[in-house]
This record gives sequence, structure tokens and C-alpha cells, in this order.
Amino acid sequence: MKHLLAVNLALASALLVGTAQAQTIYPLDRAEILAGSRFDLKVEFPGSPAQSAVRVTINGQSAATVARQPETYVEREDGLEHSALWIRGAAIDKPGSYTVEATAGDKSARVTWEVFATPAPKAKNVILFIGDGLSVAHRTAARVLSKGIAQGRYGGELAIDDMPHMALVSTSGTDSLVTDSANSMSAYATGHKSCVNAMGVYCARNKSNLDHPKVETISELVKRLRGMSVGVVTNTEIEDATPAAMVTHNRLRADFNNIVKDFFAVQPDVILGGGTPNFLAKSTPGSKRTDEDDYLKKFHDAGYACVTTNAELAAAKGANKLLGLFNPGNIDGALDRFFLKKGSVAKYPDQPDLTDQVRAALDVLSKNDKGFVLMVESGRIDKYSHSLDWERAVYDTIMLDNAVKVAKEFAGDRNDTLIVVVADHAHGVAIVGTYDDEKSGEMRSRLGVYNQSQFPNYPAPNADGYPDRVDVSRRLAFVFSAYPDSCDNGKPYLEGENVPAVEGATKGTYVANEKNCAAPGAVRRTGNLPFNMNAGVHAADDVILTAMGPGAEQFRGRIENTRVFRAMATALGLAHGAGH
Ligand SMILES: [Zn+2]
Repeated sequence: MKHLLAVNLALASALLVGTAQAQTIYPLDRAEILAGSRFDLKVEFPGSPAQSAVRVTINGQSAATVARQPETYVEREDGLEHSALWIRGAAIDKPGSYTVEATAGDKSARVTWEVFATPAPKAKNVILFIGDGLSVAHRTAARVLSKGIAQGRYGGELAIDDMPHMALVSTSGTDSLVTDSANSMSAYATGHKSCVNAMGVYCARNKSNLDHPKVETISELVKRLRGMSVGVVTNTEIEDATPAAMVTHNRLRADFNNIVKDFFAVQPDVILGGGTPNFLAKSTPGSKRTDEDDYLKKFHDAGYACVTTNAELAAAKGANKLLGLFNPGNIDGALDRFFLKKGSVAKYPDQPDLTDQVRAALDVLSKNDKGFVLMVESGRIDKYSHSLDWERAVYDTIMLDNAVKVAKEFAGDRNDTLIVVVADHAHGVAIVGTYDDEKSGEMRSRLGVYNQSQFPNYPAPNADGYPDRVDVSRRLAFVFSAYPDSCDNGKPYLEGENVPAVEGATKGTYVANEKNCAAPGAVRRTGNLPFNMNAGVHAADDVILTAMGPGAEQFRGRIENTRVFRAMATALGLAHGAGH
């Protein structure tokens, strides 16, 4: 133990010495870059070497020549302890291996990139489904509830499972093992890894969240190169990380105002979700903007049909461009909208289902003969998993499955549409048995494991795959591996989304929500997360990807998340003929 520690310390100090002296080059080492795509090349030099003392080359030639854009140099950038050489909007057309070397005096650093071309297009359209936080246990539970299980066999297949190609996807970012939805979705949207909270940028030392080195998104690429249409559909706020990563270049996912600005700059042809307040001018009641920009008016003036209810969405059939904002916050999940009527359902009774949104999006997007890229997110699987509210998460997994069914019907036998279903990251969740209320006592006495885990007795699902109630006597024991101080009685939260922990006597630390502790049979759990956390957390576990249609054969084995972008770009042939 002592020996190991000494070795680790030596390694750590060697790394520290190395990074303290070296320049940092963005894109980082081992980046995979689509030929012809745009990116900012940035090199950060420690201290303030004169421009004449620094040199950046790509494969031995001047970087500016290879990247086809001029260099700019900023001494003591942002008043910080580094100077920066930038080549903004760089692009490399010829595929191959590129070694970038940055030298200042006797110090040098190097990275190697792979610039890849693509064969001729195989697919005209790509539909990318994201189950935010969708983990193996969510899929299994969705199958149990919507297909049933008897004698160890399921009563049917989920649409998300029933696809010919599958891969395991690793989701870590540039800065940490466990990702968030910003950098993980950014990897799918750009092919570059990024850091927690960042989208469409590498995380450099810039002070402003808008100044970090940018990489081009698939939305920008397909519009610029091919005149294709783009759709961004979610049931969360449209400014939330997953949808935002389709359009934005921002180090800070919470910067909703600039994210809306980027939606307007990129102009996806379909934008559907929640999150109205950041579209409203500051003086409009309910606005969360800090300026007087009225984005509803801007989108309207740019030719968008703007809708706020499911009825209006249906009536907008035939629109060429569509903006739908159906809730100031997130759209309510399937369990609340269809059955429990909690959340904000009473206030917003006519919110669309994700299936309605996908149908409307496909109507608009399929008008473009040049094809489209559509991203569809079932985003509350993640949010409900943070709140340790698995029934809501699983109903939204079934909703995702229904939305994928709509896409499969669209793709039919046309053989021109690649469908990909993947999570951006996992949660630490598992099904360990069933709770049986015919047993007595506290939660632990009612938990059946192994041969005691009798099949649950949820009612047969309706036509959409949803059982009409979750408070049955024999329920899944769907557990969370990471939690704050909390109480649990193994029963569903029928009165509204679970609040596992509340702020305690010490500001910024969280204790169990006593309301849950008062529930009959509840077990009080000492949290295993840091004291400042009030909810469950993401996991670094790999996630499952399934795919069908032209280009889907690229998905197999274990892949990095950046490969999802590469496979989509390859299916669409976005760098076909590059370098010739
Ligand atoms: Zn999350």
C-alpha cells in the first residue's frame, strides 16, 4: 500500500511538471476531425513569449497554411498567465494523420489528429434518439412494464431493442470520468470530446464562456455543406444541454440566453420543447432574458409557425418551419400526463407527447429533398433518475420507445434513413428484485431477491404500452446506487415527482426529506454522496446504442461517443471526395 502510494505520487508529480511547462493544443491529442469541417485551432503558451518566439506547425508546415486561415496571437490572454495563438475557422480537407507541434523557445508540445473522409452518402436522413440517462435497468423495466414477463420470457420486444445493430458507448469527457449531458451530447453533435457543462467547444482557459475554441456541429455542417434540414425535439427545456448541443458553442450550459441566440443563428427547421421564458423580451411578464430581444417575434418574422399546445401543433401541419414551446419549464412526463395528472399538467393540459412531436417534425423535415438530421430527446429519464423516481423515468422510456416506433414507421422500407438510439450517459441504477406487499414490515422485509423475486403484477399495458397504474402489490425493486440522505418505502410517488432530500441546518448541505421518512415502512438511508448533493448522480458506465438503416452497420463492439458523430457523418457522406 505504502509502495503503491509512493509510485502514484511520483507519477502525479511527473504529470504536473509536464503540464506546468507544456503548451496546450486544441483540438486535443487523438481528435478525430471530419475533413472540411471547421474548428478553432488554439495553442496556449505559458507566460508571455513574444509572437516571434512561438511557432505552430502541422506536419512540419506552417499551421496557418495547412489550416487555410490566418493566425492571431494574444499575449496574456484575458489578463491571465498564458498567451494564445489562434487559427479560427480552420479546416483541413485531405484525410490523414496530422501532427501539430507548438514551440516556444526550448519548450514544445505535440498532438496528433486523424482527419477522416467519408465514402459516398448511404443515407439521406438521420434520426438520432437520445434517452437522457437511459441505462440498462431503465430498458429492462420498460420491457417488464410494457411487454410483461412470465416464466422468464418477455411478452414482446421494445422498438429500441429490436434493431439489427448494437454497440457499447463510452461517455467520459476531456476533464473527468463522469460526464454530464452537455459534453456527452456535444460529442455526438460534433465528433469532439469536451468537458462538463460545455457544448461545441474545447474547454480552454478563456474567461468568457463564449470565447473557447469552437468545433462545428452536425446542424451547421449539414446546412452549410448540403442544404439539409435540421430538427431539434425534446420534452425538456429547449435550452437544456442535450438540445442545446445541437446548435451552440458555449462553455456554460446554464447560459440559456445565448443558447436561444444560437438557436436563432443556426435556425433548425423544427424546434420543439419547453423553455419559453428565455425567448421572451425582458419586459414581457415571465421572461428570464436580460435583454429586450423578443425571440418569439424573431422566429415568427423568420417564417416559423409558432405553437404552444398540442392542438396548435397538429394544426401547424404543412408549415415549412416550426417552433413549439409547450411549457415554461420541462414538458410533463408520460406518467403525469396520462395517469397521475400531477406536475404542471393541470396548468398545461394540452402538452404534446414525444410521439406527437416526432410526427410533426417528420412532416416538416421530410419536405426537403436534400434530407434531414433530426435529434429527438426523451430528457426526463435523466431528471426523474436524479430525483430517485424510477416509475416516472421508466414511463418516459416507454414514451421514447413509442417515439422510435414512429420513426421506424417513417423509415419503413425506404432504406434511406439511419435511426440511432443511444443514451448520453448512464445512471447508477439496477433492478434487484420485487417488493411484495403481501409480506409485512418495513421495506427490507418486503423485498424479494433471487427466488423470492416473484414476477410483478402490473396490469396489462394499454395500446401505447403503459400499465394504467404503478401502485400494484408486487412491484419492481428498482434501486439507485448513489443517493443523498433519504428515506424510501419502495412505493411509487403518486403525489408528484419525488424530492429525496432538502436543505439542512447547514446551508448548502442536504438531509432526508422527512415527508418520505414518515411513509409507512420507510427505511432511512445514510447518503453515500457528498453532503452538498440533493439528488442521484450520473455513472461512468458504458451505455447501449442500437441502430438500423443505411450506415447502422458501423456500430459494433465498444466505441467512444465521438464515433456516433463519425458514423452519422459517414452515413451522410459529409466528407465524400474530400482532399481530391
Ligand atoms: Zn443528468
